[in-house]
Amino acid sequence: MISSTKVFLLKYLQYNVFKLLRKLKSNYYFFLSKKDKTFKCKICKNNQLKTIKKNLSLIKLSECQNCKIIFQNPMLSNQSITKFYKKIYRNKNSSEKFNLYKRGLRRGKYILEYIESYKSDLISEKNILEIGSGYGGIIDAFKKNNNFVISHEIDSNCHLFIENNLGIKNYIEIDKLISENKKFDIIIISHTLEHIYDLRDFFSNILKFCHKNTIVYIEVPNFNKLSKKSLKSIQIGHLWYFNNETIEIILSVNNFKILKINNKIQLLCKNIN
Ligand SMILES: [Zn+2]
Repeated sequence: MISSTKVFLLKYLQYNVFKLLRKLKSNYYFFLSKKDKTFKCKICKNNQLKTIKKNLSLIKLSECQNCKIIFQNPMLSNQSITKFYKKIYRNKNSSEKFNLYKRGLRRGKYILEYIESYKSDLISEKNILEIGSGYGGIIDAFKKNNNFVISHEIDSNCHLFIENNLGIKNYIEIDKLISENKKFDIIIISHTLEHIYDLRDFFSNILKFCHKNTIVYIEVPNFNKLSKKSLKSIQIGHLWYFNNETIEIILSVNNFKILKINNKIQLLCKNIN
């Protein structure tokens, strides 16, 4: 589906990239220095990395020759990434916010049906957590279906929108949420994983929210290094570039098993401990 929202989003992202480039020049943001460039795959520790495409201007990608994961290398420092998400990525005016919310709501309904079709059960009166909620449309679709919902989103604009406009509790700090020891029936991680600096650390946090029957919904862009369309998806905020094989490897090394997956890389998984 090519919607005007989608085109608008891409334009907005381009604008952000230029803004980011200026900030990189002034050292407000910085990549890990060349000596910090990884020569070992962060997932499988293999040291055979190949640069998959030269001259992608600022953003360089490496592909592990063993597990085939593709990632930004060098990556922005963790500190810079956090600054980027807190200050630039989701900084929008009110009509943009509302459009993003409505887009999320449509996607949320789709995700709800996707999960229901697997479970052959209605998703109602469940405890649900979304990680990386943006303007909260997805999680609000679950709330509207009589679920108990919680959101985790680090952006302060989104935080205010989620709490004030949607009446949903949002946690800016994940440690605060962890400290409350809540467990969820469903965890939604949509278009978030590709932005995460330390995936191992991220999944170990996810585990803290799981009981033995928790189902995790994950959606990431499907990256094909040979396709022009995929190459366009290379952007500063995307640290990881997955395909059906590599997402399975990432999940498996973090003790998650795929229950259902499609070629858009929308999947359900659960912990195997
Ligand atoms: Zn690897």
